[in-house]
Amino acid sequence: MAVPVLFRHPSSLEHDTGAHPENARRIVAIERALSERDWLGWDVRRSPAATREQIGRVHPAQHIDRIEDLCRRGGGMIDMDTLVSPGSFAAALHAAGGAVAMVDVLLGGAGAGAGNGSDAVRAAASLHRPPGHHAERARAMGFCLFGNVAIGAQHAIDAHGARRVLIFDWDVHHGNGTNAIFHERDDVLFVSTHQSPLYPGTGPASDIGRGAGEGFTVNLPVPGGSGDAVFLSHVEHVVRPLARGYAPDLLLLSAGYDAHADDPLAGCRVTDAGFAGMAALMRATADELGVPLGLVLEGGYELAALSRSVVATLEAIGSVQAPAVPAVKLDPLALRAQERLAGYWPALT
Ligand SMILES: [Zn+2]
Repeated sequence: MAVPVLFRHPSSLEHDTGAHPENARRIVAIERALSERDWLGWDVRRSPAATREQIGRVHPAQHIDRIEDLCRRGGGMIDMDTLVSPGSFAAALHAAGGAVAMVDVLLGGAGAGAGNGSDAVRAAASLHRPPGHHAERARAMGFCLFGNVAIGAQHAIDAHGARRVLIFDWDVHHGNGTNAIFHERDDVLFVSTHQSPLYPGTGPASDIGRGAGEGFTVNLPVPGGSGDAVFLSHVEHVVRPLARGYAPDLLLLSAGYDAHADDPLAGCRVTDAGFAGMAALMRATADELGVPLGLVLEGGYELAALSRSVVATLEAIGSVQAPAVPAVKLDPLALRAQERLAGYWPALT
């Protein structure tokens, strides 16, 4: 079995946001923590820049041009939370490119015929900034310019013939961009746990997708103060049965770490061990389904908690033996989600 692959690029440090919680020190802290652990033995690679064609399968050309123009003119504000500097465009291209390259490795790269071959890469990660899950088709917002995980999922479908991709977003904020991009489609199942109420205000439980996508958007809002028990219960008792019912060709994690108890931007109480537990459950799910698992970095703003939790989750998803999966109690909130979704997903009953 091939070692897991980690994608990074120094351009992540050149997206200069000044005094902003989403700043280059996040990547510095993560990479320092990983390098102190010899990168966990992972194969560390430089991400290519995504091509315009790859990004253009999710975002209109005018959206790409607008960001490039603003960066070329020296940068500026896009909205109250989102800004760019001259280096941001290259950073954003590589952030999307990391997700694309990760999908290539998981579905068709080294160890092609992936998924079953003994030398197939089963786990990979793309650790970049800016993050992506708030970016809508034609709108940058919430620190995000391009929808990195969405571009990766679309690439899996277009370039590798994936029939179904499941994206699980455990960032504390709702991934409104990913949600909107795949809202009317059934070839991507988007599942999100997020604190509610909280920015950006989208993702109520009643938002289940539309048209052909009805039932293929699953929103799992949780109240502020929710910790490991609530998050792990949603993963064990909702996300895992959904994955079994959907049978995706690829599992993607839209992995933010701002649900951490130490994070300053939200009010959830997840610990390092909670993130490791969620990752272990997703590793076990991928193994059960015989499909690869990729992680794309989203938010997370307390540097020590962020770097520790990234290390813990990569250890879990990269482990050779599926890590021990703890018994997880059924939380009342997860039970309500099961009941609500059972009409679409019999696997939940
Ligand atoms: Zn977030």
